[in-house]
Amino acid sequence: MRERILIIEDEERILQFLKRGLAYEGYQVDTALDGSIGLDLARENPPDLVILDWMLPEVEPGLDGLEVCRRLRAGGDVPILMLTAKDTVSDRVQGLDAGADDYLVKPFALDELLARVRALLRRAKREDPRVLTFEDLRLDTGTHLAFRGERPIELTAKEYELLELFLRHPRQVLTREQIYDQVWGYDFGGESNIIEVYVRYLRQKTEAEGEPRLIHTVRGVGYVLREPT
Ligand code: CA
Repeated sequence: MRERILIIEDEERILQFLKRGLAYEGYQVDTALDGSIGLDLARENPPDLVILDWMLPEVEPGLDGLEVCRRLRAGGDVPILMLTAKDTVSDRVQGLDAGADDYLVKPFALDELLARVRALLRRAKREDPRVLTFEDLRLDTGTHLAFRGERPIELTAKEYELLELFLRHPRQVLTREQIYDQVWGYDFGGESNIIEVYVRYLRQKTEAEGEPRLIHTVRGVGYVLREPT
């Protein structure tokens, strides 16, 4: 599953530079030119990491980078990397107090930013529950083994990615476009039935002994992992 990174930065040039660099590394990148748009985007498509500029235009009174950081932090535990031109000890402390996980002083080298991003994502993953569960379905993200009750299920790489996506978004309807984008990593186009095929594989494997269905079709939209009906 490709990791989603949200960049909130008002300097278009830096924004595009970061977007290109991160996309080249295979990340899925969302961008916002101010904090208000950034917070909206973070709610719509929860990112795995946020790169946040400290000095943002206050489109709402008081909504500077620090405040955006506080609000992001209040909404969840997404890792936040702050970009700042400030480099005094008290500024750094303020940023970390507001909930930033790390900060980088401008100007910085892209390689250094990428290294920080990787480190933060690794750390977040480690703190993530290693075993994802829903009802009697379990997926060990370390060994890539799945179980339905006590019954082990072998998965191919794509089946694993698809099942992981469902288990990370229980009871949430995932559109075909979202699934395509997350698992196959390119924009949805044409009439491919690859999602149907893989959902069928997963159902066959998770229902092999007559267990009730957990992956349900939402007609005209996509699929959802929810309790059997
Ligand atoms: Ca700025």
